[in-house]
Amino acid sequence: MGESRVAVIGGGVIGLSCAWRLADDGADVTVVDPEPASGASWVAGGMLAPVTEAWPGEERLLELGSRSLRRWPGFASRLTAAAGMDAGLQTGGTVVAAMDSADRAELDGLAAHLRRLGRDVNALPGRELRRLEPALGPNVRAGLAVPGDLSVDNRALLVALRAVCDRVKFVAAKACAARPGSVELVDGSAVDADVVVVAAGAWSAALHPALAGRLRPVKGEIVRLRARPSALPPPARTVRALVSGRPVYLVPRGDGRLVLGATQYEAGFDIEVTVGGVRDLLRDAEQVMPGLAEYAIEELSAGLRPVTPDNLPVIGELEPGVLAATGHGRNGLLLAPITADAVVALVRGAASPVPTEAAGWDGAAG
Ligand SMILES: Cc1cc2nc3c(=O)[nH]c(=O)nc-3n(C[C@H](O)[C@H](O)[C@H](O)COP(=O)(O)OP(=O)(O)OC[C@H]3O[C@@H](n4cnc5c(N)ncnc54)[C@H](O)[C@@H]3O)c2cc1C
Repeated sequence: MGESRVAVIGGGVIGLSCAWRLADDGADVTVVDPEPASGASWVAGGMLAPVTEAWPGEERLLELGSRSLRRWPGFASRLTAAAGMDAGLQTGGTVVAAMDSADRAELDGLAAHLRRLGRDVNALPGRELRRLEPALGPNVRAGLAVPGDLSVDNRALLVALRAVCDRVKFVAAKACAARPGSVELVDGSAVDADVVVVAAGAWSAALHPALAGRLRPVKGEIVRLRARPSALPPPARTVRALVSGRPVYLVPRGDGRLVLGATQYEAGFDIEVTVGGVRDLLRDAEQVMPGLAEYAIEELSAGLRPVTPDNLPVIGELEPGVLAATGHGRNGLLLAPITADAVVALVRGAASPVPTEAAGWDGAAG
């Protein structure tokens, strides 16, 4: 890619992953962001979970997520080596718990769907699940063990990504438009570039006409918890559960901390944490893991998932000289490695590992 000047709008997990890989490939990279790592990437739970996130009708997303998950160990070890700090990958796996008979029926349906797709899922009765994870409560009736679904400490990841972007220029400014040849800033100035990459998460739609109407923010609230000395230790694996039909998850960080998430609302760009959201999360999580009552609450936060109508990301050319890497919805951490590979390939003019039709982009709009 030689001396290409690339300007990336947005310094979340997607923008930083692309910036790192582009700079590594020889590009002269600038990230434009008033507050890098302040968006959904900082708030997220950190699951790398294409299988336990699978929904019937989202087979292309499952395939894309699985391909990105296969890249994760290499991505994390390269990042850890380059940054000189741990990139936060956790390989303990995932269990999914069902609390009542309707939850169990739903989980059985998910297991059947995954088996039809040739995916390995291990259905277990409640006592077997408790043997794996003694923190689970007596009301857990049944569940699944999915050792291949992993997690990452999203904040450790972002710190490591910032560290490896030492050759990247950062411009602390808000962009208002992505054009061929430049990024326009709200103060009227511009950052010149040969290629512009729109990676501003839920805010991307305002930056290029071809993205208008293709992305919407979906709010999610998260509770960060810490085991106090008197509390039962956290689970070793990510615990996902259905509690009277409501999904909830607990992602261990390996240091006694636990991330509890997440609510889901269509609420525009609102990121205030609500009493109702936190109450629902705590109530449901305590049913799954009763020992949670002894944990300390360290932080409440909310973020915006950048969601597309088909839940697939938009990765591709919007017009010559302007690329999109956005719309990763509930899977931006999972999809970061494959997105960065795709953007490097697109900037080079090489074949992308993400066929445009498998990445939410049909090239027809705009
Ligand atoms: C509650 C919650 C839980 C989640 N859990 C998971 C999970 O477990 N696993 C998973 O894979 N994904 C998860 N996600 C989804 C994931 O967080 C997102 O898909 C991902 O963070 C999107 O990354 P991004 O870099 O595109 O956007 P963001 O992280 O939102 O970053 C966007 C960046 O763009 C900047 N920006 C915005 N507007 C402008 C502008 N005009 N000019 C310049 N810069 C701008 C912002 O300052 C920000 O730094 C979760 C999301 C939420 C909200």
